[in-house]
Amino acid sequence: MSGHVYLVGAGPGDPGLLTARALELIASADTILYDRLIPSAALEGARPGAELLYVGKEGGGASVPQEQTEALMIARAQAGGTVVRLKGGDPFVFGRGGEEALALRAAGIAFEIVPGVTAGVAALAYAGIPVTHRGLARACAFVTGRTGDESELDWAALAAFPGTLVFYMGVGRLAQISAALIEAGRAPDEPAAVVEAGTLPTQRTVRGTLQTIAERVSDERVGSPSITVVGPVAELADELAWVAARPLAGLTVAVTRARAQASGLADSLRELGAEVVQAPAIRIEPIPGPPLDPAAYDLICVTSQNAVGALFERLAAGGRDARALAGARIASIGPGTDRELRAHGIVADVTAERSVGEGLVEALADVPVTHALIARARGGRDVLPEALRERGAEVDVLELYESLAEPLAAETVAAVEAADYVTFTSSSTVHNLLGAIGELSPHTRVVSIGPITSETLREHDVAVDVEAGEHDVDGILAALLADAAARPAR
Ligand code: SAH
Repeated sequence: MSGHVYLVGAGPGDPGLLTARALELIASADTILYDRLIPSAALEGARPGAELLYVGKEGGGASVPQEQTEALMIARAQAGGTVVRLKGGDPFVFGRGGEEALALRAAGIAFEIVPGVTAGVAALAYAGIPVTHRGLARACAFVTGRTGDESELDWAALAAFPGTLVFYMGVGRLAQISAALIEAGRAPDEPAAVVEAGTLPTQRTVRGTLQTIAERVSDERVGSPSITVVGPVAELADELAWVAARPLAGLTVAVTRARAQASGLADSLRELGAEVVQAPAIRIEPIPGPPLDPAAYDLICVTSQNAVGALFERLAAGGRDARALAGARIASIGPGTDRELRAHGIVADVTAERSVGEGLVEALADVPVTHALIARARGGRDVLPEALRERGAEVDVLELYESLAEPLAAETVAAVEAADYVTFTSSSTVHNLLGAIGELSPHTRVVSIGPITSETLREHDVAVDVEAGEHDVDGILAALLADAAARPAR
């Protein structure tokens, strides 16, 4: 039986404008065929192993011909897969969604359309421009600004249109468009605006009149993607602009953590206005092992956030839960691990002040110990077990997971090379990212979570520009904000 195809709108760029239905389908798809103008975060929710195929078009030129995209979509569905065809904005608004639906119908393949938030409404809304407004605009027309092989627009009809004109795709032809509208009788002093990269951290609005807007846009070097609006509503931007400049706006930050862990850091960076490149150079793989009976231990040291879940899995494998840890003191490497422990019902007795092995050794100085368990990653440092053994304790090291190198797509590598910042949250992210991309570009600033990761960077001849004072996600954010604030205005 052939699979299903979903023609899904991904919204104009802000990942928060993906619909609940879109997120659900992205998470369940076997194959996702995606365009250029989808939010960069949209694919983060795809399941591991899903086939992600870029079929976008660059600035009108066809990099993947439409027929080929349709053929691919049909072939994957015929093979039985769940296919998501992910498009910027809404699939039926200048998105060729109708053509693709016709091709699916002709091939006898079942499909569903998932509308998206369209740029012509949303980019303007983020600029403070309502497309209709009582007393100012009782109608709104969506118009393609591209001509190409389509027939020329009916300028007289557009000039006479009693409402707001919204042009998609036309920013490169704005001079011709505005001249044609004025020629056909639209008032030259009618307010106009162009919104570039609407809803994205780099959003910009340029205001003018029908007469001046093309020149303003060329002076300001406004590029694609941009929406043009002509009509009295454009003037409301002066009063209603509401997107505040955010501290990391205009900066791109690469996150090298494993996908499963990256979302906290990535989300916070986006909240601060940064464009985030997810480059998961590692993936966390649990190491299988026998069920854990912790009864013999009087101290259990958890040396990373990842170790927490893995530890509880080993307990659960033997039918145990948090109560099995009641007899032992629990020591944690830092705030992230504390949080994860708390999520599993455990409040750590001891937390290291510095999130490194030495820090935990110090924190444990006055804690009595006879038999300790150290829950950690494969290949972790031996500072802590050695120090405890020196104190006469019996120590078992339990390696619960390992960080494996994850291959990066060519476009991810290119995005990391173009990033303003790259963040490293562990030594393994350093080894694996540098393994995947070779060298960082000289203009990229390198952010390290702490001294051990910095040391590993220096071993790879990479200079550390920023080191977090607190060795966790909040510490990274604080250090990055301070560094960005000291940069020349962007
Ligand atoms: N289906 C899409 C439109 C695709 S046509 C939708 O419903 O939004 C591509 C055009 O959409 C671009 O040339 C630009 O005019 C507009 N566009 C898409 N994303 C945009 C954004 N974030 N900001 C401004 N315009 C955008």
